[in-house]
Amino acid sequence: MNAGPADLQDTLDALPLVDHHVHGALRVPLDRARFERTITESDRAPAPGVSTFDSQIGFAILRWCAPVLDLGRHPSPDEYLARRAELGPGEVNRRFLSGAGVDWFLVDTGFAADELLDVGGVADAAGGSTQAREIVRLEGLAEEAVRVDMDPSSFADEVVSRLRARLEAGAVGTKSVVAYRCGFGIDTSRPSETAVADAARRWFSEMEAGAPVRVSDAVLEAFLLWTGIDARVPLQIHVGFGDSDLRLHEVNPSLLTDFIKEAEPSGTPIMLLHCYPYQREAGYLAHIYPNVYFDVGVAVNYTGTQSLQVVAESFEVGPFGKQVYSSDAWGPAELHYLGAVLWRRAVASVLGDWVAAGDWSVDDARRVVRMVGVDTAARLYGLP
Ligand SMILES: [Zn+2]
Repeated sequence: MNAGPADLQDTLDALPLVDHHVHGALRVPLDRARFERTITESDRAPAPGVSTFDSQIGFAILRWCAPVLDLGRHPSPDEYLARRAELGPGEVNRRFLSGAGVDWFLVDTGFAADELLDVGGVADAAGGSTQAREIVRLEGLAEEAVRVDMDPSSFADEVVSRLRARLEAGAVGTKSVVAYRCGFGIDTSRPSETAVADAARRWFSEMEAGAPVRVSDAVLEAFLLWTGIDARVPLQIHVGFGDSDLRLHEVNPSLLTDFIKEAEPSGTPIMLLHCYPYQREAGYLAHIYPNVYFDVGVAVNYTGTQSLQVVAESFEVGPFGKQVYSSDAWGPAELHYLGAVLWRRAVASVLGDWVAAGDWSVDDARRVVRMVGVDTAARLYGLP
């Protein structure tokens, strides 16, 4: 039997995805300047005369999202945003979140949450059978737990007991943004209780001197990574592509090799997020170490039509059972929808070509699609 991208696209379109790393959608109106700022990872003003719509993600929004708002393909940005404003944020969020075909959103609530739908709000906007669960950002937990008048030696226990409470309340995983706070070049071995208390004491005195409440100490970051490992639920780690708080060469996941090895006996899954442009390094680590999994979320949105290539690279040495789907959408709900559309399209095309060439059977391709899109994440996060 000859099968190809079209057959797989049908399987993919019917597949209720698990989006294992995603943020809330903005529930406020967005003018052109604000919308343009949400479709770039840069926190800088654009270069003179440059629009963020002139990019893979911008073109992909005008191609794939415009029809959801009843427009033709490829409208101008102004036509698109006028229609978006006419519908209003509630209707726009409902259309994109319900249209994504996602059954489970695992929501990182840790970044700029004020104007975003919360965990329940994401599920409500998607409607139907869609559910959402929280992923606990470890740095956020530490920043909530800290009080400058607390005994530094009780800081670690406070963080651990807060995490336990969040997991008991329904959270299904943890996340570290050590990439943004100090990079992966730190000593990631498990710090002693004394070292954590000393680091907490230093942090408290910095805050008393006026420093913002923001963990960035290497010992505290190592403590948070191990807190995630000890929780025995998947530990997500931001890797690669991100805003200007990181230095790209310091967030190559191969720098985490010692940590991965030391954490291996725990059996806690380490989920490498995004990974671009290090998806090949991530595939290698997932290949070697049983506790490593990865995704190419965010890269799929930002590479638009070129996401075929990113997805193809994720299917090189990366074992199929070690990959999961995420959109890493943050901000406009277009990104929650687009992540799913582009991922389905890329997988249908890449795997479909291998089927058409006779290299893969269509049954194997369908099995891999379900494995990556749903089954592996559902098993790791304990979703029913
Ligand atoms: Zn994210």
